[in-house]
Amino acid sequence: MIPSLLPTYNRAPLAFERGEGSWLVERDGRRFLDLAAGIAVNALGHAPPALVAALTEQAGRLWHTSNLYEVPQQRALADRLVELTFADTVFFTNSGTESCELAVKMVGRYWHAKGDPEGGKIATFEGSFHGRSSAAIAAAGSEKLTAGFAPLLPGFVHLPWGDHDALEAALADPELGAVLVEPVQGEGGIRPLPDVCLKGLRAACDEKGVLLVLDEVQCGVGRTGRLFAHEWAGIAPDIMMVAKGIGGGFPLGAVLATEAAAAPMTAGSHGSTYGGNPLGCAVGLAVLEHVADPAFLDAVRRKAAALRQRLEGLVAAHPEVFESVRGSGLMLGLRCRVAPADVVQAGYAEDVLTVPAADNVLRILPALTISAEELAEGVARLDRAAARIAATAAA
Ligand code: PLP
Repeated sequence: MIPSLLPTYNRAPLAFERGEGSWLVERDGRRFLDLAAGIAVNALGHAPPALVAALTEQAGRLWHTSNLYEVPQQRALADRLVELTFADTVFFTNSGTESCELAVKMVGRYWHAKGDPEGGKIATFEGSFHGRSSAAIAAAGSEKLTAGFAPLLPGFVHLPWGDHDALEAALADPELGAVLVEPVQGEGGIRPLPDVCLKGLRAACDEKGVLLVLDEVQCGVGRTGRLFAHEWAGIAPDIMMVAKGIGGGFPLGAVLATEAAAAPMTAGSHGSTYGGNPLGCAVGLAVLEHVADPAFLDAVRRKAAALRQRLEGLVAAHPEVFESVRGSGLMLGLRCRVAPADVVQAGYAEDVLTVPAADNVLRILPALTISAEELAEGVARLDRAAARIAATAAA
């Protein structure tokens, strides 16, 4: 019999009752050190006082009015994002998938307004993940996401990761309207696009007159030690998808765009009942107030450098379990020689939480507020988890 919850997840038998910073308390009282942060969502940790205050203050006054009216919190958050980034305009969503939907629609609309309704073909990359809607699975294109979900939305061309010739060929297609890429692939296995490649991609898009769309749902909002990951390459996209960290645990997403890319999105062309609702935007403003502070980002970079060094030590100590470290900032991956799901399991036994990804990678995505001491403790727990795996293999 099908369970009352549609069984689309393989859940661990853990149920957390409370969160405090980088710690989660299970119903049996065990305290887990959280190096997963709800898959890069809890940017400021669990129940951070500043976000609890912003949410409860707003909840006591007004939850929802709809986009029929002005929503001052929404405008304030858009103004702040425009101030802090390349963007001229922002649309708020409730998730990364919804941000993908709008980004894809915006590309189509841009080319339609230019009198080229067939010009909205989008190139994407192998290993990418943009969400679970029909557009998002068609965009990523992997069999794992699309199997059984035909008909798929047409108009995407899927390129092998790191294949310059395939990219050149795609850019030569007169129907190509945009390139969509994650500056650091998350689900694909923490694969950063080198800065020089992102720079080159921007230049190639400019030369061919196609839009560059970045998916910073997982790597944005301070995760790499810059407010947005593309800043490391010194470039700016035309359109950017955001979600996860921007709401710090409250469902909030956004699409940021230049005026040129977004101008055809006129009244009535897109909408959302909940997108930009006062609760989400009040929280988003509080998140941004912290994360956009240069001292906060500097601290993320310092902690990330120390963590990376410790993880290199972990790889050296357990060469039979781990192969290498990769990633950017506090978005790090340990390439494993065993199944990463086994390391996640062994981590549960040591009261530490991590996330598996594709390409045999274990993701380390702590809250950006985690302390240096907590990171050291996390690596010590991973060390014990790796020792468990090695002992089991030897037995
Ligand atoms: N894009 C990227 C890069 C993601 O990592 C995710 C989620 O993991 C999404 C889009 C989809 O976001 P959501 O699950 O909020 O719909």
